[in-house]
Amino acid sequence: MTKKSRIAIIGGGLTGLTAAYRLSRCGYEVHLFEADSRPGGMIAGEKMPSGYLDDIYHHLFTSDHYLLELLQELGLTENLLWTTANNALLSGQRLYSFASALDLLRFRPLPFLQRLRTGLSVLRAERLKDWSALEGELASEWIIKNCGRESWQTLWSPLLSSKFGRDATEISAVWIWNKFKLRGGSRERGQEKLGYITGGFQLVADRLKAGIVAEQGVVNLNSQVTAIFVSTEPNQGRYGIKVAGKNYEHFFAQVICATAAEPFLALANDILPDDDYKARLVASKHKANLCLIVCYEQQFSPWYWTTICDELPFVVVVEQDKISSLPECGHPVYFSRYLDVEDELWHMSDSTIRDQFLTAAVSAFPGTAGNKVLTAKLIRTRYAQPVIERHYSRKMPDMKTPLPGLWLAGMAQIYPEDRGLNYAVRLAEELAAAVIGADDD
Ligand SMILES: Cc1cc2nc3c(=O)[nH]c(=O)nc-3n(C[C@H](O)[C@H](O)[C@H](O)COP(=O)(O)OP(=O)(O)OC[C@H]3O[C@@H](n4cnc5c(N)ncnc54)[C@H](O)[C@@H]3O)c2cc1C
Repeated sequence: MTKKSRIAIIGGGLTGLTAAYRLSRCGYEVHLFEADSRPGGMIAGEKMPSGYLDDIYHHLFTSDHYLLELLQELGLTENLLWTTANNALLSGQRLYSFASALDLLRFRPLPFLQRLRTGLSVLRAERLKDWSALEGELASEWIIKNCGRESWQTLWSPLLSSKFGRDATEISAVWIWNKFKLRGGSRERGQEKLGYITGGFQLVADRLKAGIVAEQGVVNLNSQVTAIFVSTEPNQGRYGIKVAGKNYEHFFAQVICATAAEPFLALANDILPDDDYKARLVASKHKANLCLIVCYEQQFSPWYWTTICDELPFVVVVEQDKISSLPECGHPVYFSRYLDVEDELWHMSDSTIRDQFLTAAVSAFPGTAGNKVLTAKLIRTRYAQPVIERHYSRKMPDMKTPLPGLWLAGMAQIYPEDRGLNYAVRLAEELAAAVIGADDD
């Protein structure tokens, strides 16, 4: 195969890595730049003797076809482990099992009719194909109409607030419809099925990196890109990039920025025209995430996933060893919280946040008071969740920017589905096809 043009990919998360893998296998000369010392972005993990301990909890759904195909291609199908989810909900300081339709029907804090209406809405969400009618509707309106006011107040309003904070009241019905659809669709005999990669999700990133290198692609780690500029020698390539602390002199026919809109704008502000596209980049909003991973000596609770509807500093508790664990890590539990970077909590020190979370963990799960903490580590993710407001299709910055050969592909380009691993792979596949198309023009 003859070598095709040279492409730069900024960001080595699942989106950037998959796009780089696909393009390098199609004969392109790919140069990937990742700021971190590990490939993977949010799927990165810490190396342990028997595998990786994920920085952030992740699981797959049975409907994740793009991701499942990629795992097969990477030879990771044997690592796939499917389990029945063991979910709970903390509401009014009481824990309720919340894994099946029967659990919903038994959920006493809601009037019976509203439990029934909520269950029927999940079933209806799976069948709804035309989501465009929901674009102008708020999630709150949609839920109150379909499930009932108390269902909104008791179940869904705390969930939306915990994910979107001050933007919760602006979230589109499309976002919540997708959540209903996704959770309802990953079921077998009424129970939710979740998948995990034994050995850690970092393995996916490592295999992608190895695949890129095998095609003579270059994966530059510890390489923070600080600017994208238009080349003065177009015959060398249209764009150049600057890398922090490095004298980098390659030029590229096309550049893909596989990050959120805000960091992309910081890199390309000087070369992008002041038009509607730039305005969309400026308006694009993301929530951050704090994820405390605590390795306990003993098991923490009987649940894999506990959704917190009460006022606590975290909103989800995920116990990794209910799916798969590493013997040297004790019993890892993730305490997760979404927030704005303007929030006071984001600016507190890691140790203050850790102490707050650990104290709240004992108050919410009193039986854990004597459970020894072996290790605790805080992971901060600045761009964790795009804010999906009404008519998002009109606000979303497109993957194709106004400049030829300059592309943006991050979580904010995923719609109408919510961001997730499966859609990161789909976006990367679409992006690779568009880049190839542009090269052929
Ligand atoms: C708490 C949490 C839990 C989640 N759980 C699930 C789950 O269970 N299932 C699921 O499907 N999805 C889940 N997700 C979503 C999933 O992690 C993301 O959709 C996916 O990882 C996004 O990948 P990405 O490549 O688009 O972004 P990222 O992983 O953020 O990758 C972007 C990369 O770009 C790099 N970068 C940024 N700027 C520069 C620069 N200037 N120069 C060089 N590099 C740069 C960053 O270092 C980063 O590595 C979860 C997300 C969070 C926050």
